[in-house]
Amino acid sequence: MKQKDLDYFKKYLNDLLNELLNQVDDTVSGMTAVKENFPDPTDRASLESDRNFMLRIRDRESKLIKKIKLALDRIENGSFGICESCGGEISIKRLKARPVTTLCIECKTKEEALEKALGL
Ligand SMILES: [Zn+2]
Repeated sequence: MKQKDLDYFKKYLNDLLNELLNQVDDTVSGMTAVKENFPDPTDRASLESDRNFMLRIRDRESKLIKKIKLALDRIENGSFGICESCGGEISIKRLKARPVTTLCIECKTKEEALEKALGL
């Protein structure tokens, strides 16, 4: 991959990471603020489902954060854009759509077909 492309993905992933980290902060402070303002049990019940919802979002966010950090590591060690499965190059087009991917489109398609066949 060209240095120009690597720089592009490095910047893109860093921006995305910062944005997600800011969001996580907001979610945490939002959760504490709401808790103090609703002493009513009915509100607490809906607060509980809001909390579960937020925790699910946070779970997804933290998984994405991990993936972004791994992608940044791969940029540093030179393995970014290389398919983990076949060692071939992942197309720039695919990386732009999904910069945290570790599989080329052929391997991803095969993997999905296998998962489907196994009922995963
Ligand atoms: Zn592959």
